[in-house]
Amino acid sequence: MQLLDGKLTSEQIKLEIAEQVKQIKARGGRAPHLAAILVGNDGASETYVNNKVLDCKQVGFDSTLIRLPAEISEAELLKRIEELNNDDAIDGFIVQVPLPKHIDEDKVTLAIAPAKDVDGFSPASVGRMCLGMPTFVSATPNGIMELLRRYKIDTVGKHCVVVGRSNIVGTPMSILMSRNSNPGNSTVTLVHSRTPNMAEICRSADILIVAIGKPDFITADMVKDGAVVVDVGITRVADASRASGFRLVGDVHFDSVKDKCSFITPVPGGVGPMTRASLLQNTLKAQAQRKV
Ligand code: NAP
Repeated sequence: MQLLDGKLTSEQIKLEIAEQVKQIKARGGRAPHLAAILVGNDGASETYVNNKVLDCKQVGFDSTLIRLPAEISEAELLKRIEELNNDDAIDGFIVQVPLPKHIDEDKVTLAIAPAKDVDGFSPASVGRMCLGMPTFVSATPNGIMELLRRYKIDTVGKHCVVVGRSNIVGTPMSILMSRNSNPGNSTVTLVHSRTPNMAEICRSADILIVAIGKPDFITADMVKDGAVVVDVGITRVADASRASGFRLVGDVHFDSVKDKCSFITPVPGGVGPMTRASLLQNTLKAQAQRKV
């Protein structure tokens, strides 16, 4: 078994981005600028956003973190989004989810200008991705594709099973893997909570991509010998032995599956860091595509 090391790969990508930023500045340009809106004080969201700010610093991007109270009205949040849409100093921005229940996430997604939608969640970005047009592919699927590309995983004609059909991971992943591209050209099966014979279908996968948020759900008996396994899941599980009080657990039971597969992503250190690197790649691209 070989690790698909997202931490190592993302560090390499960040070095490449930092080099490009240096070149932009050497040509008299300005650093790409990512903004993030964080509503409320959700612990996991705080961590994600703070990491994104640190990543920006590491590669030489400018970043702006906009903290808004959990009680902010939907109208006020939409107004702040419109300001970012019109702010020439900002190349791309994200609104960290989940949002408080009184705010309609769909309205927020629709309010973000496609040219600045570096999370790739807007209908325009998703539609372009489905049609194989240039766009911002959302960070997690994009990061997984990059990992498969850099490890030269052969995906052509392989049976790829994607477990989970969320808009941000499972569904776009299934589309990307079935596209006529590299990686891609796989024969894809998308399974979800209503799928009977889950174990049997997973066992037939040459490439198994799991995004369900159920710790250790995929066990060795559900994995084919020699399969490539990508574990997207991240769940905080209580662990009194850790200073934080929790540890991060994937959807795949790593210890039993690792001896059966050819490649596997660890959790942490697999898909997570690749997601972060993808957001930087999208921001760099957003700046390059802007006319200002
Ligand atoms: P989500 O929106 O909650 O969707 C979960 C999907 O899994 C749904 O499609 C659901 O099916 C399916 N599912 C749930 N239980 C299942 C079961 N027993 N068998 C088969 N399918 C099942 O989740 P998400 O946003 O895609 O996130 C999934 C996991 O990935 C979470 O742990 C999340 O934290 C993690 N994640 C990690 C990253 C990263 O950067 N590493 C990024 C995003 C998400 P139904 O549609 O039928 O309900």
